[in-house]
Parts: sequence; structure tokens; C-alpha cells
Amino acid sequence: MPMPACPMQGGCLCGAVRFEVSQPPLLTFVCHCRDCQKMSAAPYSLAAAFAADAFRLVRGAPEILRRAGSRRQHAYCAACHCGIYAQVDGTEARVNLRAPLFDDTSWIVPQAEVMTRDALPWALCHGIPRFEGYPTRAEAAALLAT
Ligand SMILES: [Zn+2]
Ligand SMILES: [Zn+2]
Repeated sequence: MPMPACPMQGGCLCGAVRFEVSQPPLLTFVCHCRDCQKMSAAPYSLAAAFAADAFRLVRGAPEILRRAGSRRQHAYCAACHCGIYAQVDGTEARVNLRAPLFDDTSWIVPQAEVMTRDALPWALCHGIPRFEGYPTRAEAAALLAT
């Protein structure tokens, strides 16, 4: 994956929420889960996982959406409703940012695709590791090491 120069910034559609990351992503991936399909109104989301301490908001504050029974919380802009990042209970050390929100998107190449059990069949990627569900901790560690 081409590594972006850091820090780099991005923001929501209307610009009310802006963020910055100080380190390159740990992993860039396609997520086919139903949450991502609905949050993006698209076949899948393109996410980039960052260490939480490499991420900071520089303007605005997103709203947090948590559905009953879900382990995930989604941060979105209250003004334009653009999804900004997701966090999963138990892995608060990571922030899964919606990668297309970065001002510079030239570096974004997915290294894996997850939750393919929910994928639209024509929307699968080719030539990258594929996970039917979410990768286990060990699988994620192996991906991060590559
Ligand atoms: Zn916005
Ligand atoms: Zn997802």
C-alpha cells in the first residue's frame, strides 16, 4: 500500500467535522456488513483503521449512533449525516475511519475485505484476503504484520 504522508486531514461532506491523523493507517479494508451498507447507502464501505491516539478531531464533534444490541458505535456529522468513523466495543484502541473522507484519497487501496457473507455478489473484490465475518484477533494481527 502506498503510505500517505502524515499528518493528513479529512472531513465530512458539509465540512462541519474535520479530523486529522498523525500516523498512517494500520489497515485499509472493504467492509460489506449491513451497518456499512446502510450507513454509506452503498454496496460496502471503505475503511481505514488507525490507532485511536493517532486520531483527533480538529473541528466540530460528531454525534454517536449506537443501535440496541450492537457492539459498534458510528460517529456521524449531525449537520450532513455523513458517517465519519466506527468503533467496536473491546477494540477502543482503534478507530475505523471512512477512508473516502480524507482530502487526499490517492493512497487508498484496500488490503482485505471483511463480512463477505453480507456482500452483494457483484461487489466482491479480487486478489486480496477475504473474510466471511470479521477477522479474529489472530487473523487481524497477521494482516497488520504484512
Ligand atoms: Zn457534515
Ligand atoms: Zn461494516
